[in-house]
Amino acid sequence: MATPAQLAAMRRAIALSAAGLGTTSPNPPVGCVILDPQGRIVGEGYHERKGEAHAETQALAAAGTDAEGGTAVVTLEPCNHYGRTPPCRQALIDANVSHVVISMIDPTSRGEGGAAALRAAGITVETGVLQDEALVVLGPWLTALETRRPEITWPYLITSVGIGALPDATPEADFLRRNADAVLQTDGTVTEAVPGAHGTGILELAVPAGADALSVAGCLYEGGVRRLLLRGGPNLAVPFIAAGVLDRVLAYAPEGIPSHRPTDFLPWPELPPGFTVTGAARTGGLVRIEARRDQAARQVAS
Ligand SMILES: [Zn+2]
Repeated sequence: MATPAQLAAMRRAIALSAAGLGTTSPNPPVGCVILDPQGRIVGEGYHERKGEAHAETQALAAAGTDAEGGTAVVTLEPCNHYGRTPPCRQALIDANVSHVVISMIDPTSRGEGGAAALRAAGITVETGVLQDEALVVLGPWLTALETRRPEITWPYLITSVGIGALPDATPEADFLRRNADAVLQTDGTVTEAVPGAHGTGILELAVPAGADALSVAGCLYEGGVRRLLLRGGPNLAVPFIAAGVLDRVLAYAPEGIPSHRPTDFLPWPELPPGFTVTGAARTGGLVRIEARRDQAARQVAS
């Protein structure tokens, strides 16, 4: 059982991991907190970019010798392979931590990840701690891993003349770009959502001419994209809706639309068919409705 100090540290680690959203792909956003034997926080870290230090390495560097006999609290199973950086499980072993508390097991480790190696080195390891909360940050990365395509979001603006792209020069559009990897434009070009955000993490953004929505999604996944924004109107988005690969829409409409607003010219009054409202907010003169694609038929109470 995780202690109250470990649970509090895990929530801090989840918050730290969110600082890597939009920059770590194709790596996961991960956070780590080091507790000393008395349960005090002595180090924190998160993974910022592919090729740069992992969360555990950052946190251990901050903790120094205070990590000895302490606990590492980390949102994803520490890695067990030599890549661009040495494996984090070895850094944890070398730092003489006594316990490691993990939220999500890395599905790519197939039981041979850092957890097994840490246990073999005599460290107590607890897994599955606050998984639902860690998934708030890691969910899109894990889903992309399963489906072999990015999580795809389409923000759009409903006006009195139709549906179009959310204008770039708005705080909302900026907010969305900062939490995404790449943007697909109407002309088929793909750009990094925030130029330079990934360093060399996203290497290949070319989409073959004439590719359908499904192959575009697969192609971008192979290029390292885990969260994609569509920038355009229905002409761009409808093929993704039809292929069942549009995950989320954000529908914006100006506040104060008159109640007699005609909607005949719109392809749908608010949301494409098959999408369920998951959130609503007022934001800078706009009303935002957030919706997700239905995952399965819902039970209707009678
Ligand atoms: Zn690592």
